[in-house]
Amino acid sequence: MIMELVAESLKLTVLAGLAIAGILVIIIWKKNQTTKVTYMKAVIQAASLAAIFYLFTYPVRPLLILAVILIMPIVLGRFFCGWICPFGLYMDVLTLIRKTFQIRYRVIPDKLNKFLHNFRYALLLLFLSLALILSLIEPPSTLNRLTIMALLFAGPFEHLGLLLGPMVPLIVPWKGPLEIGGLYFSFPYIQDVIKYSSENFVTINALIFLALTGVGSFFVRRVWCRFCPTGASIAVVNRFKGFKWAPVLHLNKNETKCTKCGICKRVCPVQVTEVYEQKGGKIMTSMCMLCFRCVEMCPYEDCLIVNLGRKTVFKSRNWLEPSEVD
Ligand code: SF4
Ligand code: SF4
Ligand code: SF4
Repeated sequence: MIMELVAESLKLTVLAGLAIAGILVIIIWKKNQTTKVTYMKAVIQAASLAAIFYLFTYPVRPLLILAVILIMPIVLGRFFCGWICPFGLYMDVLTLIRKTFQIRYRVIPDKLNKFLHNFRYALLLLFLSLALILSLIEPPSTLNRLTIMALLFAGPFEHLGLLLGPMVPLIVPWKGPLEIGGLYFSFPYIQDVIKYSSENFVTINALIFLALTGVGSFFVRRVWCRFCPTGASIAVVNRFKGFKWAPVLHLNKNETKCTKCGICKRVCPVQVTEVYEQKGGKIMTSMCMLCFRCVEMCPYEDCLIVNLGRKTVFKSRNWLEPSEVD
């Protein structure tokens, strides 16, 4: 059993390492290509979706995947949310459709947005407590070392699988809730909604969830990210002062170049205000998903800089005509 878990962890670490290394190589290779951040992000999100689909066909325990997602932010901050998460990609596609129809997005008031950001931690705590209570209600028959190892990844702790909700591809390599032509379709969290709904309300609950997240994401950019317990778990690591030194991927601001034009605040998909408000230095807020949209759109050269270790990978550029700057 232990050897099996070690082998699975190693396989997963190698896969995750290769994926992250690939993404970082592309970013470094494309360094200073700030004009192409949105385009590169879309390509990497799509490639990640394909890799995640493949990962789910692989005999790896889902909660080991979760462990990798939760360890990654120690080094890369919320890079997963900005560049990899499939649910993030679906919401970005809805944003693109809304833009195509030239419909304006809705802005959540800053105070409410910050409240929701902090409220996610309460949701996460509640959710983890429930998982713990369920594990106590259904205790294992013996508590030897092997059982504890198994408990970490299965048994009553299967409820933690909900944290993998945002990773669910639209076409799934398992028996999903909707079958068309031999293909199974799903949606983030939909199987959890079905699992935790009482029999009479399964369909209605699933439809309500789909409608709320679909319509919500259409009008409010990255709406689910304001509630997401997985996002909170990823961000929680970077909230601890003890880990502040660890991430190698940073967004920095050069205050002397900032004209307070406010563009960074307007283009941020999760309405981070710190880039606008902070007086230079590293932007450390756990709300930031490191998507670098603000760097792409900031119109003053070297005002916003993304560093990977000591290497600059993206930086803002002068894209306003000199007459407009003046
Ligand atoms: S906050 Fe949740 S849904 Fe949003 S990108 Fe992160 S993991 Fe995905
Ligand atoms: S977009 Fe750049 S110049 Fe404008 S407020 Fe933000 S950081 Fe400052
Ligand atoms: S502050 Fe910039 S990098 Fe962070 S989430 Fe907003 S747009 Fe993306």
